[in-house]
Amino acid sequence: MYNKAFDVIKLCEQENKKISEIAILKEAKMRNLTEKDVIDEMKSVLEIMKKSATSGLESPIISHSKITGGNAVKINNYLNSNKSLSGDLINKAMAMAVSTSEVNASMGVICAAPTAGASGILPSSILNAKEKLGSSDEDLVNALFTAAVIGELATKNATVSGAEGGCQAECGVAASMSAAAIVEMAGGSPIDSFNAASFALINVMGLICDPVAGLVEYPCFLRNASGVVNAFVSADLALAGVQSLIPFDEVLEAMYKVGKSLPETLRETALGGIATTPAAKEIARRFYNGTTE
Ligand code: SF4
Repeated sequence: MYNKAFDVIKLCEQENKKISEIAILKEAKMRNLTEKDVIDEMKSVLEIMKKSATSGLESPIISHSKITGGNAVKINNYLNSNKSLSGDLINKAMAMAVSTSEVNASMGVICAAPTAGASGILPSSILNAKEKLGSSDEDLVNALFTAAVIGELATKNATVSGAEGGCQAECGVAASMSAAAIVEMAGGSPIDSFNAASFALINVMGLICDPVAGLVEYPCFLRNASGVVNAFVSADLALAGVQSLIPFDEVLEAMYKVGKSLPETLRETALGGIATTPAAKEIARRFYNGTTE
């Protein structure tokens, strides 16, 4: 049905449909299910996302390694103090993105979107867009289908693996999926969604993967916090009418080439970036000696 963003845009125009509608039809057809079946499945995904995005806001969730945790509560408390510089939406979005990252690091249940490391960005984006726009759960389910199309295109034509393409492929694609989804929620056109998806990926092109101690914790939760902000900024740019000079298909291709040109040290091996700083090496030493507090 489609392999490129170009095909999706053409289908949307020909059939006068949203990206989410095209995605639902394709998923049902491909798996020989009814539209209701695939929508019901996505409803369960949404429930998992709601839980992971909120469970770390009130009481601290500490990671399995005990290296990170409790930061979603801090951001939420800061938000409630009314002293934040960047405002309620941004701080709530960061808190909820970090909540899911903490659930992941504590071996809880999350929905990989597109990966576990980047799983905080999409739930927080759609849930905070819902707050702002007054959307329904049905709108959220549709938004997840739109996001899934971006993730599918990235998987088919590039990569969503930090080991293959760096964090641009994980948190970058997650922000791209989210930006496209929230643009559709806000009433933007399919072209607006793809413009937003392009901006989000361009904004972090070249972002390396350098997890401290080789664990999906730090800088991962920070990049989930900045990833959700990237999604909102990119969505607003597109909704304001800013056009992407580079089509999404070409942005994906560029991201993939950049990923392939990254040295192995910067692709999830913990042999470069912040993972090899003295502080990170000490954290890793304590963790592997079993003396992490
Ligand atoms: S730094 Fe690496 S492990 Fe962490 S979220 Fe990014 S790609 Fe995933």
